[in-house]
Amino acid sequence: VELAMSSTAGLVIPCKAAVAWEAGKPLVIETVEVAPPKAMEVRVKIKYTSLCHTDLYFWEAKGQNPLFPRIFGHEAAGIVESVGEGVTNLEVGDHVLPVFTGECGDCSHCKSEESNMCDLLRINTDRGVMLNDGKARFSIKGTPINHFVGTSTFSEYTVIHSGCLAKINSLAPLDKVCILSCGISTGLGATLNVAKPRRGSSVAVFGLGAVGLAAAEGARIAGASRIIGVDLNPNRFEEAKKFGVTEFVNPKDHDRPVQEVIAEMTNGGVDRSIECTGNAKAMISAFECIHDGWGVAVLVGVPSKDAVFMTKPINVLNERTLKGTFFGNYKPRTDLPSVVDMYMNKELELEKFITHRVPFSDINKAFDYMVKGEGLRCIISMED
Ligand code: NAD
Ligand code: ZN
Repeated sequence: VELAMSSTAGLVIPCKAAVAWEAGKPLVIETVEVAPPKAMEVRVKIKYTSLCHTDLYFWEAKGQNPLFPRIFGHEAAGIVESVGEGVTNLEVGDHVLPVFTGECGDCSHCKSEESNMCDLLRINTDRGVMLNDGKARFSIKGTPINHFVGTSTFSEYTVIHSGCLAKINSLAPLDKVCILSCGISTGLGATLNVAKPRRGSSVAVFGLGAVGLAAAEGARIAGASRIIGVDLNPNRFEEAKKFGVTEFVNPKDHDRPVQEVIAEMTNGGVDRSIECTGNAKAMISAFECIHDGWGVAVLVGVPSKDAVFMTKPINVLNERTLKGTFFGNYKPRTDLPSVVDMYMNKELELEKFITHRVPFSDINKAFDYMVKGEGLRCIISMED
């Protein structure tokens, strides 16, 4: 039986959080104070979180603006602990997935069928505070700790704008569906909602991490006949077979641009390509390897802030289309519950993406796995 109000509502909660004090330095488990949610905000007890490459990029802060101390984490699942003033769509005890891009429901983007780039709550990687008052809800002995993409899930409790929380089926296992809160939905949606391959078509996927393999899974579900996986790391290839990837190309094995290799393999180019690396060179290859006349390339990877995309305009004129997407064009509150249901109905397999599990106290191990390119998703369990 859920109580209408939790005993901690309205109070500051001291709890454990993994704080990044400096770029590239191991996270430190600290006791942080988490303030109650303000208007339109929700305080969530995080049950499971996982690590996505976007966390790693901003923690390394090599090509990104450094902002420290900070609590990272955006791929997670949790339970509503308390809600702030004006929150009507969520209540205590609801099972939720936090999402780095929100859905206010009122802006021109939220009202458009084509966009999920909410004016109010779209991703902002440079903001470390809440929208409501420009302040952080986390502090350690009075020192504010920055938020990350409005979610900061590497904490037992976190405060999130209600528009960045998708309420999901309460029967869904949170230790699995947590990976739908970013990477897997992003790749799946990039294919199903944006690239939209026709049955029988050829699809190239650049980057065979969790996001790219989810894009491949989307291509398989859409009925693509050839799925060409491209990665610099040959260890990815064996794993990728489980996701329907039929052929592999390692750019390192060729002394000419990989787009030429793919064009040759496919009689002029693939029908669709999806880039999931974050590398600008791979983005250009992903665009230039599509067929003229109808090819569509979709960029998913997050580039470093100074990266430049360069191609000859004639490549576009020749009837090729370049697109980009955040979160696979899913509107988080409206669409994510149905992606969870795809898993519940066994149309989508999540287990094969989960290669590691660690307790919260070992969160730095999850970073090590990702830095070494080992495995796909590491689930971090907050309770042990
Ligand atoms: P990952 O590190 O697990 O996978 C990336 C893969 O790309 C690796 O296997 C790596 O070897 C490969 N790679 C790197 N450079 C390459 C190149 N030049 N050519 C071919 N392969 C190359 O990362 P992930 O968690 O799967 O995330 C993939 C990307 O998607 C990241 O850039 C991440 O930030 C981004 N992302 C974007 C969104 C969005 O909404 N647009 C959401 C989540 C993640
Ligand atoms: Zn909006």
